[in-house]
Amino acid sequence: MTGPVNELVSHLEGAIDGYRLAPGQLYSLHQGRPIWVRYDLAAMAARVDRDAFASREASLWRYRECLPLGADIQPVTLGEGMTPLLDCKRLGERLGLADFWIKDESQMPTGSFKDRGQSVAISMARSLGVNRVAIPTAGNAGGSMAAYAARAGLEAFVFMPEDTPPINRFEVAHAGAHGWLVNGLITDCGKIVRDGIVPMNWFDMSTLKEPYRLEGKKTMGLELAEQFGWVLPDVILYPTGGGTGLIGMWKAFRELIELGWLEATDLPRMVAVQSEGCCPIVRAHEQGERFAAAFEDAATIASGIRVPAAVGDFMILDAIAESGGCVVAVDETAIRDWMQEAAMTEGIALGPESACCIGAARKLRESGWLEADARTVIFNCGGARKYPHLMACELPALDRHARIDWANLAPTPQ
Ligand SMILES: *Cc1c(COP(=O)(O)O)cnc(C)c1O
Repeated sequence: MTGPVNELVSHLEGAIDGYRLAPGQLYSLHQGRPIWVRYDLAAMAARVDRDAFASREASLWRYRECLPLGADIQPVTLGEGMTPLLDCKRLGERLGLADFWIKDESQMPTGSFKDRGQSVAISMARSLGVNRVAIPTAGNAGGSMAAYAARAGLEAFVFMPEDTPPINRFEVAHAGAHGWLVNGLITDCGKIVRDGIVPMNWFDMSTLKEPYRLEGKKTMGLELAEQFGWVLPDVILYPTGGGTGLIGMWKAFRELIELGWLEATDLPRMVAVQSEGCCPIVRAHEQGERFAAAFEDAATIASGIRVPAAVGDFMILDAIAESGGCVVAVDETAIRDWMQEAAMTEGIALGPESACCIGAARKLRESGWLEADARTVIFNCGGARKYPHLMACELPALDRHARIDWANLAPTPQ
């Protein structure tokens, strides 16, 4: 019988100062900043062959050795991961990109990539003895945590801004979590969760305020590598809020190189995409800062990236810099158009966050930063179906008793 933590985990490490922490106990932040999980990668490489993954289960738990959960512990899973990587020629052509792909994270148990983080973090929290979890959320993380907490038999508390999308409120209530609408932003919700740690004895599951959601998000990078035959794309455009997706993928790529499963020269350029309505990371990058000032009056319909202050800001900015990537802020008023464009050309229902990546790709093609033949990937982090309040969906009525005028039924637009 092994312990709650994978024995290949060598230690945990403060991201701000490299300070080593022993695995096997609960951690939140170190010096007010996130904590990395570090592995004995030489031992991992000796134990598992990258080609073995292909024959395993179609979930992120196929990468079991690369994840922090102890080998004998049952994960809390709803079958998340191994989402399709879709070749998008028609949309690519419109963007001037000959090799354009969408990894469709909307095909997840609760419809967003937050399930990756929650499956791993809830598994770890339960195995380390937690029975109450709390989270501030822009929406999808709360809906996802509510589901995984229910699956694990943990009590869940969710705090969300009062204008959080209706589907996310439904997800929380439906899964039996305690949920509240707060008259503020996700950062205000985060303060409530922090203040409740002692009186409520709950564990804070905020983005990057425990070490394991990031490990779950890392599997996006592992899947991408496996699905492309262990060769990475040239550019990844990522809608960036708290940044776990971008940071997690970059961590995955670095680990894959150290494992000898990828060529060191093969790393993609990472692009953080935000809306002009909330772009603290873009602003910090443009000003050459490693830490981002809080973005005042953050407002965007892309609720998943409405994060005015990110505790992992420097980790996002470091990954962009190390990868030779860049940042892009896109026009808030065009987000619905990009959602529609992707749905009409490829049948892929992008959420508003990922739709920003369409605008960003176009902008980077126009500036010449993105070459026409660069293999480019975006992630559909959460599908349009989570945002019906954003979509016009009026259809004309048809009288079943009337004679149908076939010639004018669906006039071809001029
Ligand atoms: C949470 C979320 C994001 C931002 O993710 P981070 O990795 O935390 O930056 C983007 N899109 C959707 C749909 C989300 O739910």
